[in-house]
Amino acid sequence: THFGYKEVPVSEKANHVADVFHSVASRYDLMNDLMSLGVHRFWKWITIQQSGVRPGASVLDIAGGTGDLTAKFADLVGPQGKVVLADINASMLNVGRDRLIDRGKAGNIAYVQANAESLPFPDNYFDVITIAFGLRNVTDKDKALRSMFRVLRPGGQLMVLEFSKPAGWLAPIYDQYSFRVLPTLGKQFTGDAESYQYLAESIRMHPDQSTLKQMMQDAGFERSTYQNMSAGIVALHRGYKF
Ligand code: SAM
Repeated sequence: THFGYKEVPVSEKANHVADVFHSVASRYDLMNDLMSLGVHRFWKWITIQQSGVRPGASVLDIAGGTGDLTAKFADLVGPQGKVVLADINASMLNVGRDRLIDRGKAGNIAYVQANAESLPFPDNYFDVITIAFGLRNVTDKDKALRSMFRVLRPGGQLMVLEFSKPAGWLAPIYDQYSFRVLPTLGKQFTGDAESYQYLAESIRMHPDQSTLKQMMQDAGFERSTYQNMSAGIVALHRGYKF
């Protein structure tokens, strides 16, 4: 497919690297599962439900990783639409592509290696942009939000799904879970407590609900709102470009 921007060529070498990377991708998936106790599937489902994506739409899934959202969007946009799975990591993209092809998704998906901070797409291009459990890992989040704003079409919607700040009774329990239970679980499953410690810290460092909402406004998005899911363990932020 030719969408007018650079797609990632599949080379023998990349496939070879992808083999090694399958374990990393599986680890990402396992982390999502452990961190959310499997509930991330439900959070993603809600995101899809609220995306309003229709047949023929063009969708950008940034930090798409192994392509959970991309797979659903590819069904929704149909053969006339397109979905771009973008990720900063070429090996991750290869794994994502393998998985999507295994799931029978092809034809309307493009794979592009890109940093969320400087998206290589034309202005005013996509109807819907999603970034799920990815913004947390981006270094310059304001720059990334501005880049997303640029490539979004007027009338289009940005959706940010990310771990956030639980409030009230859940907050102390969640803290115990993130900083005690999770690293222990991680160590049991993978022998690697440190990555899970890092995961918990990256979540704690991430801007809370109202801060992220303000950052979206500052980047140009209008009518920014968020909804908490699972008592604020995760929040879905949405904003529009007009
Ligand atoms: N969106 C998928 C999901 O919800 O299952 C994958 C989330 S995974 C936890 C985070 C992904 O973000 C990884 O695939 C990583 O390579 C990607 N990533 C990290 N920093 C990025 C950046 N600056 N630009 C684009 N992708 C990035």
